[in-house]
Amino acid sequence: MDFRLTDEEEAFQSAVRRFGDKVLRTHERTIDAEGRIPPEVLKPMAELGLLAMPVPAEYGGMGASAALTELAAEEVGRGDFSMATAVFFLLEAGWGYILSRYGTEEAKREVLPAVCGGKAFLGIASTEPTGGSDLAGMRTTSRRDGASFRLRGEKAFVSGVEEAKSLGGGHLTLSKSDTGGFNFLYVPTQSEGVATQRFHNMGRMGISTGGLTYQDVRVPEKYLVGAEGKGFEYAMEGFSVARTYVSAACVGAAERALETGIAYIKERKAFGQPLGKFEGIQFELADLYTQVEAVKWQCRRAAWLLDTYTLKGDRSHRSEVDRAVASVKLTAPQIAFESVKRVMMWFGAAGYTKDVGLELGFRGIMSYLVGAEGGLNIMRIILGRELLGKEFLPYK
Ligand SMILES: Cc1cc2nc3c(=O)[nH]c(=O)nc-3n(C[C@H](O)[C@H](O)[C@H](O)COP(=O)(O)OP(=O)(O)OC[C@H]3O[C@@H](n4cnc5c(N)ncnc54)[C@H](O)[C@@H]3O)c2cc1C
Repeated sequence: MDFRLTDEEEAFQSAVRRFGDKVLRTHERTIDAEGRIPPEVLKPMAELGLLAMPVPAEYGGMGASAALTELAAEEVGRGDFSMATAVFFLLEAGWGYILSRYGTEEAKREVLPAVCGGKAFLGIASTEPTGGSDLAGMRTTSRRDGASFRLRGEKAFVSGVEEAKSLGGGHLTLSKSDTGGFNFLYVPTQSEGVATQRFHNMGRMGISTGGLTYQDVRVPEKYLVGAEGKGFEYAMEGFSVARTYVSAACVGAAERALETGIAYIKERKAFGQPLGKFEGIQFELADLYTQVEAVKWQCRRAAWLLDTYTLKGDRSHRSEVDRAVASVKLTAPQIAFESVKRVMMWFGAAGYTKDVGLELGFRGIMSYLVGAEGGLNIMRIILGRELLGKEFLPYK
């Protein structure tokens, strides 16, 4: 067992941290205020290879491992505290990987270089207005029509709807096949019959969330991901990958909150001494640090499991991978949120102001608690299933 990063990993981590410090921190307020990630951020991200970074070089990516992508996600979450850039980053990393692995050659050549170059957006559309947790109960359908599919239905709370519309790009879209199972189709947002709607979120304002309506949309079969009827499996693999990066982004945000808090409690005085001298505060810091470190290493282990098994097509450790990923997605957002909340309180009234900026993280991280990439109870259900057996699933 060796927990050290390789020289390459360390160098890359430092480069992404420098980008986070120089570019992301400088722009996070405007990202939040203007509701978009500007080209001044996307361009250097593309230059660093951060867009859809697991995509192989022949399609424009850097063929990064899950371990390297996890490290980058930590840094992006630390850099843009609002989490908007982290979401942009991790959706493209997770779903870019799925398209590069299971998509047709034609689709990969057409879509991925633009995504990796920051000229198109790629995301996931699985949630529907009737619910996101119960994917098997979805209503969107696809049926084969010659060399195409016809897609009908509606998706909701989908990240990147406006970005895919304005920049170009689309979403890997899960639908029920009329012949059984699920189809996973790449649907360009500019396709005829696709209508979009923007929702008004409370945080991570720099990336849109919205609805998509499909009115008998013709999707060419080149956009089918993997085999017909097997889409659920690819979606689940994508969720495992994306949930690991969500958790990594939460780790980065939690570390930033603690760094901000440490600097403050060393300086701010009450009752004639720095706040950091009071056990009430120091012990809280010690507890938070311990929890953040624990989840960070759990997260890196989840990425290692993905690299070692899942991404090599080896399903022999599926249960171990599922447990590792569900555990981090269950814990990381809660610890990140708790860290931000506690540090806000160390700041007293100042913590409640926009000047200090902790509220950016407070609003952004909340998205991972309410549901983005799967609600906390769904992670608990996965863990229950893996620990007790399928017969203990709370539903059929
Ligand atoms: C900011 C944001 C961005 C998002 N981006 C995307 C995206 O890009 N693409 C996409 O497809 N979706 C996206 N989502 C949707 C997300 O995947 C869903 O929120 C999530 O799957 C939960 O679905 P739901 O919100 O419909 O809640 P529901 O499924 O209605 O569940 C409501 C609550 O009940 C809990 N619950 C559900 N079933 C059970 C059960 N059996 N036992 C106990 N508790 C249960 C859930 O955990 C949740 O807390 C996003 C959500 C947010 C907030």
